[in-house]
Amino acid sequence: MSIVDSLDAEFAALDAAGLRRQRRTVTRRQGVQIEVDGHPVLNFCSNDYLGLADHPALVEAAIEGAQRWGVGSGAAHLVSGHFAPHEEAERALAHFVGCEAALLFSTGYMVNAGVMSALVGRGDAIFADRLNHASLVDGALLTRADLKRYPHCDMAALERLLAQSTAARKLIVTDSVFSMDGDLAPLATLLELAERHDAWLMVDDAHGFGVLGPQGRGALAALGLGAERILLVGTLGKAAGVAGAFVAGSSRVVDWLLQKTRTYLFTTGAPPLLAHCLLTALELIHDGDARRAQLNANINRLRAGLAGRFELADSSTPIQPLIVGQNAAAAALAARLFGQGVWVPAIRPPTVPEGTARLRISLSAAHEARHIDALLAGLAANAP
Ligand SMILES: *Cc1c(COP(=O)(O)O)cnc(C)c1O
Repeated sequence: MSIVDSLDAEFAALDAAGLRRQRRTVTRRQGVQIEVDGHPVLNFCSNDYLGLADHPALVEAAIEGAQRWGVGSGAAHLVSGHFAPHEEAERALAHFVGCEAALLFSTGYMVNAGVMSALVGRGDAIFADRLNHASLVDGALLTRADLKRYPHCDMAALERLLAQSTAARKLIVTDSVFSMDGDLAPLATLLELAERHDAWLMVDDAHGFGVLGPQGRGALAALGLGAERILLVGTLGKAAGVAGAFVAGSSRVVDWLLQKTRTYLFTTGAPPLLAHCLLTALELIHDGDARRAQLNANINRLRAGLAGRFELADSSTPIQPLIVGQNAAAAALAARLFGQGVWVPAIRPPTVPEGTARLRISLSAAHEARHIDALLAGLAANAP
């Protein structure tokens, strides 16, 4: 059997475990009402928390950005790929999150894959929440530092690991809002521990930026936390409705990242039209209190409607996981809902721990009460 044919056995194992992944194609979009391979569904899968991804002002900005700057940037940022809109977007993002500077990347995955290697390496240690996003795990492994994963949000365990560590440099890394559970990291305690043990603290605010805090300034702003040792990561393809990501911090830290982050240095700059869109997205986020109020009303409506019928995780964010358990049961429930016009993703291992397969309901300000009610009716009809 050739090395290529051996994939057939691997596929068979995936199929047997109910872990074969498949894509569906969105064939029409109108807010949360979309068509998937021609089949109309309500979208409860998207991280477009404020409903900005197809906002007319962003579409307009994209057209204007393309007319003014073309499409491709043509080179890396340190060559000729850094355009005025990138520069403006970095300034605006930094100011918005209360930092001196920010560096714009093409994706959040690239921020997380690259930034830690600029700060720690062999002989150093990284302390990571066990439920951190996969991109943070990958980025930590790339550093070659010793990776210590602590039980989810267990600050006593983290403190013990920090106290025992003889590493030259330490870095603590966490999601702010955990992407498969929707719960919040204890950021104030994490900062205290980082200060006590002189560690960097990297906070991935992918699901907090635009949603949490005053004007949507994020999870750290919600708690009034700031320090030069904090590296704040925000992603721009979720609540901001565009694409890309940034890391923000003090000028000297960000300048260091600019020198050393390989996923920034060795890649073509994102299209300047996207940076141009981000300026409009930031205004919409800043002025988005009504959207955030609608989003919170949707969260409350869903939780009230499910109370006593389904086991929901303890989440106050737009990520509302409904834990099912077995992979096949989660997939079957998702399939039945999909057939009834409600699209909620089944999330299975390895994305989440074995035995905790779930429906991951994502809510948006673009959902109306009737959409939430349609989801509730679908769930009630398919209760296990
Ligand atoms: C989505 C996500 C990322 C990756 O961001 P992209 O811009 O989609 O690459 C990183 N961290 C977390 C927690 C995320 O949810």
